[in-house]
Amino acid sequence: MYILVLNAGSSSHKLGLYTIGNRLPAEPPAPIWEAQLNWHPQTNTVEIAIESGNQTQTDCRPITERKDSLSSVIETLWTGPTAVLSHAGQIDVVGHRVVHGGTDYPHSTWVTPAVKADIDRLSAWAPLHNPINLEGITLIEQILDNVPQVAVFDTAFHSQMPAVAATYPGPYRWVESGIRRYGFHGISHQYCAHRAAQILQRPLSSLRLVVCHLGNGGSLTAIRQGRSVDTTMGFTPLDGLMMGTRSGSVDPGILLHLMRQGHSAQEIDHTLNQESGLKGISGLSNDLRDIRQAMTDGNPRAGLAYNLYLYRLKSCLGSLIVTLSGLDVLVFTAGIGENSPDIRQAVCENLAFLGLQIDLVHNRQVSADEDIATPASTIRVLVIHTQEDWAIARDCWQLLSDQHTIEATKP
Ligand code: ADP
Repeated sequence: MYILVLNAGSSSHKLGLYTIGNRLPAEPPAPIWEAQLNWHPQTNTVEIAIESGNQTQTDCRPITERKDSLSSVIETLWTGPTAVLSHAGQIDVVGHRVVHGGTDYPHSTWVTPAVKADIDRLSAWAPLHNPINLEGITLIEQILDNVPQVAVFDTAFHSQMPAVAATYPGPYRWVESGIRRYGFHGISHQYCAHRAAQILQRPLSSLRLVVCHLGNGGSLTAIRQGRSVDTTMGFTPLDGLMMGTRSGSVDPGILLHLMRQGHSAQEIDHTLNQESGLKGISGLSNDLRDIRQAMTDGNPRAGLAYNLYLYRLKSCLGSLIVTLSGLDVLVFTAGIGENSPDIRQAVCENLAFLGLQIDLVHNRQVSADEDIATPASTIRVLVIHTQEDWAIARDCWQLLSDQHTIEATKP
């Protein structure tokens, strides 16, 4: 079965082709073909990188319609030096990452006109993401005709959170109108929880986990019996942790104060999403590596940004551990979680009182998907390479396999 995954974002589209046989492989496989398109409106160009086997193809072209760019990249699946298929008809299914599925989509689903209408309706709550995700679905319809498509939602894993975790203590009409905590990064959190159980060879249902997804955006999720029971992002991906350019949780009174001073919703949106977090406090960069370097060079604002990032991370983590009444597994994933031993060490030092202990040398030399806790540690600490595209491909495989089974058993 050939499965194409499209992760469509506002400034870049990532594609991956996976091949899966009759059984899911034990270890997550690499895609057999990968492509990335980065749009640069400032220079009116689109940068394209395609990789398959040991072939790499890069190109920078003037921006045309998104459809033309995407279509020419998809065609390299069966034409030219990076071809891995003999024709378009070999693609069995296309899976899409869709950011917001509300509470109606606890699982991945086939794309139908009704599902598309729901993704469109939910654009009001995810204006930067859902319209682009929907555009990706429509473009694939045009490029690959009748190929079946699957929507995999970033909110799905959190859609069954208990009411106490999902509700904001505003007026009850908020609850009735859908103003609640949805949570995001669900594909990554769910993937990491399953992968952690697999690495530890223990049933997921027996574990209390917190997954720390720390990338440019960041969120933590508390998981019990394989379910998300609380997460730090909320109604939007702005809530919770301090992030690269996002503030995370702030007193809503600050927003009222800014509005009374005459700032528009658009300005406040820009401030909270683009001018805050590591970048806002340091005045330098949203990249933790730059902050760390500047801090070492003695820049006090970089020092404050780094320490604030850590402080917020530790306090959110503490809250989730109490929610779980303890912790069996702590997982670090995404750009910072996978690559910053300093952050992992600093977080783990504060958990020593629970009997958590990491091997400091292993922490600095860890490869993906390893346990860095010492044998005596009461809590396992895993560094997991998150593989959201593989998780999407796996869901597509599952839906298609279930459909084949249903068809085979029809009288
Ligand atoms: P996104 O949320 O955009 O998917 P990623 O998960 O790719 O982001 O994470 C990107 C971030 O990871 C960068 O902004 C940078 O702060 C961080 N990062 C990457 N490598 C390192 C490293 N070696 N040390 C510290 N931080 C790193």
